[in-house]
Amino acid sequence: MLRGKQGFATLDFDGIVEEEEESPDDPSRKEPTSASGFPPSIPSIIEQKIVYIDMDNVLVDFKHALRERGLDPDMNDADEIGGIFSEMIPMKGAVDAFHLLIKSDKYDVYILSTAPWKNPSAWYDKVQWVKRYLGPAAKKRLILSHKKNLNRGTYLIDDRQNNGAKEFGEIEGQTWIHFGTGQFPDWDTVLSFLDV
Ligand SMILES: [Mg+2]
Repeated sequence: MLRGKQGFATLDFDGIVEEEEESPDDPSRKEPTSASGFPPSIPSIIEQKIVYIDMDNVLVDFKHALRERGLDPDMNDADEIGGIFSEMIPMKGAVDAFHLLIKSDKYDVYILSTAPWKNPSAWYDKVQWVKRYLGPAAKKRLILSHKKNLNRGTYLIDDRQNNGAKEFGEIEGQTWIHFGTGQFPDWDTVLSFLDV
């Protein structure tokens, strides 16, 4: 095993040198950074609450893409249309809200979405959408899951109870922010609730 400046490297049987994770006790190891990309203060590490944000009809205007194709925005199985997720635009206020949450340094922000099992292009299109509209601030912050309640955190902002959203809010210390309802009709009301 060869020890490099930033970590370890191993010489495999086939002669390929592979990088390994940095050693926890390596003095050259980088300190963790906050969601905003800046080194956090100790209080911010302790106080940051995890917030998950759903994509469809929360960050992403799902129905807009259907209207553009001349389809009924309330049609069944729309999420199984190949390539449809690449045609969606952001919901009003969603992109600004995402960046405000991250820059506030009060929250550790992740995108928690479900990609349809019958539509493999959706899995690809979702990460491309996040890169295109949310940029580097969202790097490695996308989680695709059919069981959102398996994720731990303080808040889940989601317009539907499906795929574990309702169950997420039933766990002590966790809250499902039901986006698009009377209490949270839009991003302004959500940001106000989160005090951002
Ligand atoms: Mg949704």
